Amino acid sequence: DVTNTKGLDFEDFVLKRDLLKGIHAAGFEKPSPIQEATIPVALTGRDILARAKNGTGKTAAFIIPTLERVEPKNQKTQALILVPTRELALQTSQVCKTLGQHLGINVMVTTGGTGLKDDILRLNETVHIIVGTPGRIADLARKEVVKLDECTTFVMDEADKLLSSEFTPTIEQLLSFHPKERQVMLFSATFPVTVKHFQDKHMKDPWEINLMDELTLRGITQYYCFVEEKQKVHCLNTLFSKLQINQSIIFCNSTNRVELLAKKITELGYSCFYSHAKMLQHSRNRVFHDFRNGVCRNLVCSDLLTRGIDIQAVNVVINFDFPKNAETYLHRIGRSGRYGHLGVAINLINWEDRFNLYKIEQELQTEIAAIPQSIDKKLY
Ligand code: ADP
Ligand code: MG
Repeated sequence: DVTNTKGLDFEDFVLKRDLLKGIHAAGFEKPSPIQEATIPVALTGRDILARAKNGTGKTAAFIIPTLERVEPKNQKTQALILVPTRELALQTSQVCKTLGQHLGINVMVTTGGTGLKDDILRLNETVHIIVGTPGRIADLARKEVVKLDECTTFVMDEADKLLSSEFTPTIEQLLSFHPKERQVMLFSATFPVTVKHFQDKHMKDPWEINLMDELTLRGITQYYCFVEEKQKVHCLNTLFSKLQINQSIIFCNSTNRVELLAKKITELGYSCFYSHAKMLQHSRNRVFHDFRNGVCRNLVCSDLLTRGIDIQAVNVVINFDFPKNAETYLHRIGRSGRYGHLGVAINLINWEDRFNLYKIEQELQTEIAAIPQSIDKKLY
């Protein structure tokens, strides 16, 4: 599902030579279906509403046209890319830097949890593209440190998450700093009605693309395992001994449980990192960076890292605590099976979770099977 249908090459999009060089440096040979569907339209400046499954290359689908349209000679900020979490901001700015490495375009990433002063200093230099979380950018815009009056590209990745009530007022305010003539691009794997409101209010005749299909979870084999709450650690221990984990992400439903579980896993003799929203930003960054570089095999976390995070080595996702809704489930297990790789998702289900399991399975029209004695290594 990552082979494109029209057989287009990146060369067919008429991009700056130096941008093509960056694309090749990133190791991309052909556009993925969502890239093939959105890039030519986005290059015309039209608004975009794009929905495609996890791990299919949405990031480059908005970064490539953005990089093409930014004018390096213009010293003003021309594009804003909003994402819901700090880790995702770092990852996205990295993609931006890789693809744009030959363009002389300056990218700045800014998120809460770091010194405001540093940001102010960095903004003395030219910043063509800003990537970050809404709160901090709005803060800088209000202080007029960030000027968005020539910022004609406005992107929201994981748009539905950004349009949940916690962010909406900030987003509305940010948009008020942008010029009226602007391009708005929204990307996500899930688009509830909140997005429709935003679309009606802020978008002009958007080009709508939906590449979700019934095979949303293709490449990821899903299992459940009934287990009493107090047997969960024991069960996890068994899983660790049986599975061939390349890297795994283990989700818990609260910060407390993340820390407790990480401690238990370490006591069992397995290497493990953990991350959650109450940790200091620099520790969160270090954990994320080191995990991505394969320093540690297992990562325990809260829903902080549910969205967008792309680590291809992750072949196992474990829901130590079962998520409350289908959307969270979809995003969590989408952390494996990235870009055509395979993955396995294992759900520990206690007595109270069983209805929810059934509900989510129905809602996503997917199959979550009872875990077999041994899992075929070919599946992940
Ligand atoms: P999404 O946002 O849709 O979940 P990402 O943008 O995070 O997916 O991309 C998933 C992975 O696919 C990344 O590791 C990225 O480098 C890789 N990728 C994206 N586009 C291509 C391409 N055209 N060719 C090869 N790999 C790609
Ligand atoms: Mg993404």
